[in-house]
Amino acid sequence: MGQETVDKRRNSDMTVDNTILGRCPNCDEPIAEAEMVIDYKSQRGNRVTAATCPSCVTVVTVV
Ligand SMILES: [Zn+2]
Repeated sequence: MGQETVDKRRNSDMTVDNTILGRCPNCDEPIAEAEMVIDYKSQRGNRVTAATCPSCVTVVTVV
């Protein structure tokens, strides 16, 4: 009787909390997804994301 070794692969959930949305147009600071204020589609069809810049401490349009 041979024993089979069941190789269980551990699915490590690497939840990245600080996904970068983009950068601040004023100071070029990377802005995390957690800072997002609003996210919408402009008339041109491109996505516009407004978020609070941690450096400027103001709401900016992420670039
Ligand atoms: Zn900034």
